[in-house]
Parts: sequence; C-alpha cells; structure tokens
Amino acid sequence: MEEEILDPVVISEQQFDKAASRVADLKTGLIDFLKRPNRIHIINFPVELDDGSVRTIHCFRVIHNRVFGPSKGGIRYHPDLTVEEVTSMAKLMTWKCALVNIPFGGAKGGVVCDSRELSLNELRHITRRFTTELFDIIGPATDIPAPDMYTNEQTMAWIFDTYDLLNTGKNNRPVVTGKPVNLGGSLGRREATGKGCMYATQRFLSKALIPEQQEIAGARVAIQGFGNVGAVLADEFCRQGATIVAISDSRGGIYSEQGLDPQTVAAFKKEHGSVVGLPDTLTLSNEELLEVDCDILVPAATAYQINRSNATSIKAKLVVEAANNPTTPEADEILLQRGIYVIPDILANAGGVTVSYFEWVQNNVNEQWELETVNQKLKHRMVTAVDAVFELWQDCILGEERELSESNGAESAGCVHDFRTVALMLAIKRVADATLLRGIWP
Ligand code: NAD
Repeated sequence: MEEEILDPVVISEQQFDKAASRVADLKTGLIDFLKRPNRIHIINFPVELDDGSVRTIHCFRVIHNRVFGPSKGGIRYHPDLTVEEVTSMAKLMTWKCALVNIPFGGAKGGVVCDSRELSLNELRHITRRFTTELFDIIGPATDIPAPDMYTNEQTMAWIFDTYDLLNTGKNNRPVVTGKPVNLGGSLGRREATGKGCMYATQRFLSKALIPEQQEIAGARVAIQGFGNVGAVLADEFCRQGATIVAISDSRGGIYSEQGLDPQTVAAFKKEHGSVVGLPDTLTLSNEELLEVDCDILVPAATAYQINRSNATSIKAKLVVEAANNPTTPEADEILLQRGIYVIPDILANAGGVTVSYFEWVQNNVNEQWELETVNQKLKHRMVTAVDAVFELWQDCILGEERELSESNGAESAGCVHDFRTVALMLAIKRVADATLLRGIWP
C-alpha cells in the first residue's frame, strides 16, 4: 500500500477542492485566486548566539488573502517548519476569519528554530531581527501577527517594541495581538482559543447529533498537547463537568481513570518540564493517547496526528480540532464512515483570532474591555459560527436526500456529511462574494 501523502499543500488543496466544487455559483476564475497565497516572503538572516557563534535563521511570512481587511495570523517557532506548512495555515486563517465574521484576511509566519534550545536573549535577538525584516510587510492596517506554537506574550511584546521603535509617533499597539495585558493585550486573549473551543463544543453537542452526549458535563476527554491551548482547554472542560482522562505533551502522555486535575498537571509540568511522571498516573505514548477510550478527543498540538494509521482505532465520538490541521483527509473519511464527528480547526479554534480582533479594536481606540465583555462577545461569535455551519450542513443533507429520491436511489454525486467541508464551503462563499462585491481591480 502506498504511503499516505502528508504534504500540507496537497492536503489543503484537496480539502479546498472538495468544498469549492460544492459551492453554488462559484466563479471558476476565482478558484485559483482563493486557493493560492497572495504573497510568500522567505527571509534569511544571521544571528549571533550566546557562545559567540553565528547561525543563519530561516523565516517565512505568508499572506493568503486580504479581501476582508488586513491579513492576520500567528507566528510559529518550530525546527521542522516549512514554507508549505505555513502556507496551509495562512489559508486556514482566511477561512477562520470568514467563519467568525471578522474583517481580516489570512496570514501565517514562522521561524525555523527550536525555542527550547535557545536562551531568552537569543530568542529576543531572533524576534527583533525578524520583526525588522518584516517592517515593510506588517502593520496595524496591513498584516498583524499573533502567537502560535512556541511563541507567547513575551514574543509579541518584542515584536511590538521593535516595530514601535522603527515607527515612532504613531499608535502602534494594533500591529500585533496576544501582547501582555499591560502593553495593550486584551483580557481573555491567552485563554481565548481554549475557551472558544469549549463554546464551540458546547454548542455543537447541544444539536443532539450524539444523543447520549448533549453537553460537556459527564464527557471523558483526552487532550493531546498541554501548551497555551491544551492547558486552558483542560481547565475549561473540567469546569463544565468533564473528566479529563488523558493529557500529553511532546515528551509523552499521562492517564487517570478517575480524572486529572489540570491545575495539578500544570504545576507538575512547570516544575518538571513535562506532564510525564505525575504521581498516580499511567504513562502513555502520544500515539496511545489518541486511541484512549473517551468521548471527546482534542488534538491541541501539531499537524496530521490523526491519520490513516490510527483513524480506525480512535474511540471518541467527537474530535475537537484545537490544533491546526491535526487530521488528514484519509482520516477524515475513515472517521466519517465510522460515525465520529469532527469539529474542524477553522471552526473549533477560531476563538484565538476572534479575541485577537477584539484586542486590535481595543488598541485602535485605546480602550480596555472588561473580561466579561470579551468572553460574552467571544461566545456570541463562536455560537453564531457553529449555528451557521450546522444550518448549511442540514441544508446539504436535505439537498442530498432530495437528489437521491429524484434519481430513484441512484448514487448522489454531491454527498457532504463532514463539518470540515461544510465550514469551508461557507467560508469560501463569503470570501468569494466579498471579492466580487469589491469589484475586480482595475
Ligand atoms: P504551545 O507551544 O503553547 O503548546 C504546544 C503543546 O504541544 C506543548 O505542550 C508541546 O509539548 C505539545 N506538543 C508538541 N509536539 C507534540 C506532539 N508531537 N505530541 C504531543 N504534544 C506535542 O502551542 P499552542 O499555542 O498551545 O498551539 C497548539 C496548537 O493550537 C497548534 O496547532 C496551533 O497552531 C493551534 N492554535 C493555537 C492558537 C493560539 O491562540 N495559541 C490559536 C489557534 C490554533
């Protein structure tokens, strides 16, 4: 059997093509425009490390689409990062922003480095140099970075400071989001992706597609990844009455039949560098975590963790994609056949960019909203987006049933049952309509 293709470009094109072919009245001439990135910036520069040696650093910033407004997207620091992966994540950002109706397009950036092997000084040098190289590209009304894997509030503070020093005399706070609160960060931004995932899951379950699980309370949950997103999510799900049975990080996972307390796990990880070894837990590999007996599985780490090799062994009834691109198309198909629902990344983890947008709004008018206001607005956006996707999903099912009865049982060509395709259809339609409304230039 041939190996499964894990090329981010191929996969994102497959997902796009599947959805685009089902969008009514999509102008064929627009398809390539919506599919391809607008610009790809590849940047290389030298940095001096603490030991006096010099290393060349490779970085990317990919802008996919700016039809709705400035492009928006996180910056990832990872040793295996490729321009293809960054491009596929820039596309996801476009669709996410369209789904939650915020006036941004999609972008993504990254630095090829292992932040765990670099000192704080080295990370600061790399970040400042990267920001300087990006000076003509990023800006409060053009392209706005945010945190992603292995970047955080501190990284965003350095980006803001560097940009601000190069562009004095202006309100530069909206150039980057995910900043520390006392530098213009929004209350609730750090928790936004995890909290947004919880709101999306809550709303999705309330639709009663899984009759025995119509709320988070009582669900047994396994979470892969215990960083910014995974740790908050564990906390949020616990508060809603779920039992977190398994958690992992890059070094492995832990399991407890009675449930893990996210605060205890976080404190242990802070002290020991990993969740592995927490007393009174069983140790799991990351592969085993994905196959744990649970109701909800949350990948909150890296791409393509759920793939052909393990999709048949997943026991959850619902997969909530907190991470970007965690499921391959082949796995999607297997999960669909097995009746396992997937809340796709562009919907499930859109809470991060939503509160980033709130931060940008607050920065533009130099205000700070109360945490309660931020969370209420976040919940409203997530619930509205889940409802819109669900409504289109029902329309697709009804349309398919009609088609089937009209064709006297002959096989329908347009079968759409998965929420990824439906969410993409909705987002593509919104961006395509806006492109035409603006008018093709010149
Ligand atoms: P993070 O750097 O804070 O944490 C990443 C976590 O994943 C760490 O616990 C790390 O140990 C773990 N990890 C790394 N490789 C792993 C592996 N192979 N198996 C298991 N665990 C592994 O990153 P984050 O901000 O929490 O982002 C996690 C995911 O969520 C990414 O896919 C990111 O693109 C996505 N996301 C993040 C945000 C955000 O606001 N931070 C928004 C939307 C989507």
